[in-house]
Amino acid sequence: MPDSQRVVSELRTALIGKTILHFEADAVLTPYPNAGCAVEAVKDHGPQIEIMFDDGIVLQTAFKWKGGWHLYRRGQKWKKRRHLAKVIIQTEEWVAVAFSTRHIETYREFDQNRHPRSGRMGPDLSNPEADLHECSARLFHYDKPDVTVAEALLDQRVMSGVGNVFRCEVLWSCGIHPWAPISTVPQSTCLDLVITAATQMRANLDSPVRVTAPDVPGGLAVYGRNGQKCVRCGDIIRVTKMGEQERLLYWCPGCQVGCEPYPVILHSVDLDNTPSGLQIPGEIL
Ligand SMILES: [Zn+2]
Repeated sequence: MPDSQRVVSELRTALIGKTILHFEADAVLTPYPNAGCAVEAVKDHGPQIEIMFDDGIVLQTAFKWKGGWHLYRRGQKWKKRRHLAKVIIQTEEWVAVAFSTRHIETYREFDQNRHPRSGRMGPDLSNPEADLHECSARLFHYDKPDVTVAEALLDQRVMSGVGNVFRCEVLWSCGIHPWAPISTVPQSTCLDLVITAATQMRANLDSPVRVTAPDVPGGLAVYGRNGQKCVRCGDIIRVTKMGEQERLLYWCPGCQVGCEPYPVILHSVDLDNTPSGLQIPGEIL
């Protein structure tokens, strides 16, 4: 395995799903990942390595000759001096350090729904004074009726702070089908989703490891558990790419059946080559 692929693979194992306790960069970076966010993905784009945080911030790095990401256990001695570090990402167990970068940049993953100019930001759920009924009303009266509930939950105009880990966990916790169009979700369920999201986020504010389901090894009910058994119904948890950004959605088809959408009938124009038939939402992977 080439060196860069090995490093990316190690970064994924160490960082994905873990809460960031400390982020530091030897450069003026905007936007900055929010404190307490988690790493969602590490992508290898040839000479560039991208680390994606679940608050929608992406860190892009490219390296000079002999530069790259180092990964150390907390407390382990570094192979290079600290003042040479260009980016430091620290979790409970690991410290990832970028040395000899030739390019560091952060950007907000393009998502129309997240774009600040597309509307006022919703209340910050981590704030104990946030008006949860207002968030619930924003979700219930969502302006695009066909958008799925899973996508609407990430819309920062509804409420801010919900990242991908929490949206998967909240949907599982409330037993809601991720592909339910938001217009079919009752008002009481919208409130249930918002209260669950606020409860899970606030319980994890100071925690180095996210726990939403204490009875499940690892603390999360579905996120990162694809292929494993659901602790509630025993069905196998799936992962599916969703939305334009193809973010990974973890869910249980066995018990997330609330507001389940009807299958969509696909009408094919080319009857010879393209089969028509029923498509069950979520059957993408
Ligand atoms: Zn289940």
